[in-house]
Amino acid sequence: MRDDRTEALGRWYARHARDLPWRVPPGDGERPDPYRTWLSEVMLQQTTVAAVKDYFARFTTTWPDVRALAAADDADVMAAWAGLGYYARARNLLKCARTVVADHDGVFPRTEAALLALPGIGPYTAAAIAAIAFQERAVVVDGNVERVMTRLGAIETPLPAAKPEIRALADRLTPEDRPGDHAQAVMDLGATVCTPKSPACVICPLRDHCAGRKAGIAESLPRKAPKAPKPERRGYVYLARNGTDYLVETRPPKGLLGGMLAFPTSEWSETPLPAAPFDARWRDAGEVRHTFTHFHLTLKVLTTAKRGNPDRGEWARLDPEALPTLFAKAHRAAFPSK
Ligand code: SF4
Repeated sequence: MRDDRTEALGRWYARHARDLPWRVPPGDGERPDPYRTWLSEVMLQQTTVAAVKDYFARFTTTWPDVRALAAADDADVMAAWAGLGYYARARNLLKCARTVVADHDGVFPRTEAALLALPGIGPYTAAAIAAIAFQERAVVVDGNVERVMTRLGAIETPLPAAKPEIRALADRLTPEDRPGDHAQAVMDLGATVCTPKSPACVICPLRDHCAGRKAGIAESLPRKAPKAPKPERRGYVYLARNGTDYLVETRPPKGLLGGMLAFPTSEWSETPLPAAPFDARWRDAGEVRHTFTHFHLTLKVLTTAKRGNPDRGEWARLDPEALPTLFAKAHRAAFPSK
């Protein structure tokens, strides 16, 4: 028997499901293409729906199915991903597409366990694809779900210690039938009603069941254990521009922004040494700051108009705004538009 809370959520979702390009409407009818579900879920990791929509449209137009993506040039995929961040996802996207073609004859496996074995697919993504694309009962837990569950159950244990309690509640609510609609219903509720600040409890389908609302603590949940401050790293970035050409290099395949086209930089550390790609009078153009998952980075921006003979990288004509965000920022610092 379905839990009352699951029922209430299902009725709400039937009327309020978000219309997203990778979705199909709620109900028993059409099922989404697993390729589109997978691609959207990978893009949505750490990234907002608004930021993902255009990328999703471009990817699915250029590479309409998993075989097309598997056959793509690495450089084309990395360039198409530029600006979306967390570039390991793009490298894993290609690896995953190629594994699906090589080992599964171009058909995504349907169980959570088999999906989990694919590159770049973690527990959340495996559960989401199994539930949404294949209607396999899987317990889908992401940040939105954590927020809704801690409020619904008034779970005051701080994260991450609260994860088992959250999962247990999410499991109790997950139905056997249409688990994909249920997963998307919780995600939508978290994104549109049970938002981090000022949850809209008055219009929430779960308001009569919500222990957090009744206790008056909903907005303060989920509680979080205090985080250690992120370390600071520094470095130098070199913008050599000659007419419309820039000196760029492909970053090493492993590590941050691996495989991406970028302006040359020094190492990033607490005490970096300058590492200019050629001798020139480099002009100081200020600093740019960027925050990665595990550290803050401040780069000193140095520019020159000299077309030197570099010890690494090559001269290329390109749109600097198409580079990863950090380097687009560095370009704007070096050459502010009038
Ligand atoms: Fe969230 Fe309020 Fe709904 Fe509880 S009643 S689930 S706190 S929006």
